[in-house]
Amino acid sequence: EDRGGPPNTGWPPPSMDFSRPTIARAYDALLGGKDNYAADRQLAQFATENIPGLKESALENRKVLVRGVRHLAAEAGVDQFLDLGSGLPTVQNTHEVAQAHNPDARVVYVDVDPLVTVHGQAILAENERTGVFTADVREPAAVLGHAEARRLLDFDRPVALMLVGMLHYLSPDVADDVVTAYRDALAPGSHLFLTSLVDTGLPAQQELARITRENLEEGWARTPEEIEYHFGDFRLLEPGVTYTALWRPDEPVGADNLAPGEQLGMAGIGLKNN
Ligand code: SAM
Repeated sequence: EDRGGPPNTGWPPPSMDFSRPTIARAYDALLGGKDNYAADRQLAQFATENIPGLKESALENRKVLVRGVRHLAAEAGVDQFLDLGSGLPTVQNTHEVAQAHNPDARVVYVDVDPLVTVHGQAILAENERTGVFTADVREPAAVLGHAEARRLLDFDRPVALMLVGMLHYLSPDVADDVVTAYRDALAPGSHLFLTSLVDTGLPAQQELARITRENLEEGWARTPEEIEYHFGDFRLLEPGVTYTALWRPDEPVGADNLAPGEQLGMAGIGLKNN
């Protein structure tokens, strides 16, 4: 029976609701990407108007991701990456950076937003060393046991596990158990790469956490010590947990005159000792 509604094209699937913002799409809007919808752009706009430097902080987060992956692939010899909460494909994705330094590097992307898998599969169709699947990071057993992770990664060897721009979506109730489960699953010589919204006492940091929680369910700003806590007994690489702009910058950065957008996030990489 034809009820006169729009034709059933199968798109969007029921798992996607484009009338409400998602983290991945709103972040894509902030970065100036094109995989976002009106609700995502509205939220990105609202947050940008309320949080000075928000857009710059998203760009800084992408930049530290590139520097961190470059260090891991080019200097630390890492050839396996598990990128959790990877986001929609943008410029210089993890596999592009890693495989530019080591063409044999294997990269698995995981995100809770099914649109990430749709766009990721299209981009990765001809890259047999890279995979993507939809899962909730808060379920480490499901992520680590997923067939795509097992197909591409050998967990008996070192892996770089990335929670980049992602730790602040883990509520304090679950974060310790979740991150500990990942740390415990990694072989010696593995790395943990974290970036997070930080709380160093600036009002914009908790304000951003609040706007994020109210619109996207989760959003938590952590003190530098709380971020460091999630490295457990991993040894932090120099310079430790710092504002993202100060983590091994390509050009010298003055620590004393950081812009507002450079004071929203911190980054760190830790090594699991042999
Ligand atoms: N890692 C990318 C980066 O740093 O540029 C993207 C960061 S984006 C701010 C956070 C991503 O984490 C989004 O794509 C969102 O869908 C994803 N995410 C949030 N909570 C998640 C969860 N519980 N499980 C899996 N992915 C999650």
